[in-house]
Amino acid sequence: MITILFFVITKSINFLIIASQEKKYFKISLNMSVSFRLKDSKVVEFQNISGTRIMNIHEYQAKQFLRDYGAPVLDGRIVLRAEEAKTAAGELDGPLWVIKAQIHAGGRGKGTFIEESAGKKGGVRLAESASDAAEQAQKMLGRTLVTKQTGPTGKQVGRVYIEEGCEIESEFYLAILIDRATSRIAFVASKDGGMDIEEVAAKTPERILSFAVDPASGLSGFHGRRIAFALGLKGKQIKECVKLVQTLFQLFTEKDCEMLEINPLILTKEGTLLCLDCKMGFDSNAMYRQPAVLAFHDETEEDPKELAASKFDLNYIALDGEIGCMVNGAGLAMATMDIIKLFGSEPANFLDVGGGATKEKVTEAFKIITSDKNVKGILVNIFGGIMRCDVIAEGVVEAVRNIGLKVPLVVRLEGTNVDSGKKIINDSKLNVIAADNLSDAARKIVAAVKG
Ligand code: GDP
Ligand code: MN
Repeated sequence: MITILFFVITKSINFLIIASQEKKYFKISLNMSVSFRLKDSKVVEFQNISGTRIMNIHEYQAKQFLRDYGAPVLDGRIVLRAEEAKTAAGELDGPLWVIKAQIHAGGRGKGTFIEESAGKKGGVRLAESASDAAEQAQKMLGRTLVTKQTGPTGKQVGRVYIEEGCEIESEFYLAILIDRATSRIAFVASKDGGMDIEEVAAKTPERILSFAVDPASGLSGFHGRRIAFALGLKGKQIKECVKLVQTLFQLFTEKDCEMLEINPLILTKEGTLLCLDCKMGFDSNAMYRQPAVLAFHDETEEDPKELAASKFDLNYIALDGEIGCMVNGAGLAMATMDIIKLFGSEPANFLDVGGGATKEKVTEAFKIITSDKNVKGILVNIFGGIMRCDVIAEGVVEAVRNIGLKVPLVVRLEGTNVDSGKKIINDSKLNVIAADNLSDAARKIVAAVKG
């Protein structure tokens, strides 16, 4: 009985996170993606966060899916090593080449590189010869691109996509997302493409069309036509748009997408529609049945701490605060974060070590927390049920022996084997501050950190 209950709590982590998110306590740092709220069919809020874990892929990979489904994209080549750049650029016909840094963040066009050797231009560059295209690709590879979405440290560019260039008549915005309020798939379209949709939503919301698709009647030509008219398309472009909307919708549902964003969708000088940029995110809970998506997983794009945690099956999410938390059970982890906030500080992470954590797992969790430079203090809060307090204590002692302890540590243990847990900590002669209950623990760690 208890086992089942525990399983349910652990599996409901996404919902708990949403609940806390609504109180604006923290954002999920991993896998940024656009999410939004609809009210009376109007977009009332755009956020660069999402409630579920999303697996993102690169633009060139998303375009491969678009190509597979028959959506209009240009020919391109991916370059992983500098010496491949020349051949790749040479395989494409000019007269224009576009060189695009592949990172899991938007705003590349307006971004800047940290290293001078990358040149002054941003992460999307135009070239008029194959040799210049190759040179630009070489300049970007291995360098660090900073955009509005990467944060000030930026992201290292490990892959560059060289694409055929084209002449743009106009740029639009088209996206498919999950509307969480109605649990429906929704479209968002705007004439104002190529720029921040968040900005359009804030300043000129009337220029955004959005609607949800009724799952019972499904998608029909009418939806595509509505988008085509909103974009101001004419003649055969309307037909092209209807087909594109159907194609994207099919891809979205078949591949378990969370979001699919084409920004910009363009009208070329010749008057045809083209997907010039594409961002796709997928529901990570569906990855067991999406091998093609999983094959596109790029580990180098993940927060290394979250990656390490996932290898040890720890529920870990890095946050912006200063107090590292090690807790068992998602509910207790949420309560711990809330109480830290209540006493005037911010949690540095969400960490649920789970029900049956081993000493090794606890050691690993402790290592991950201490490797976070923002952590000014650690709060271990364990309610031993299935998890035994002595196991947690052994893990903590072992971890501190291995890596040392440079910040204050408050430990609150309660439940199964609590006495032997406390004894292990006391006998270890570690500099641990003991706490009697949850608020005592939170007060003590906040006081220790604030000095
Ligand atoms: P983002 O900045 O990360 O969203 O990257 P995008 O792929 O959206 O590129 C940014 C901008 O570069 C686009 O809005 C276009 O204006 C421009 N761009 C991208 N590809 C081409 C192209 O083939 N030709 C031209 N002329 N401009 C392009
Ligand atoms: Mn874009």
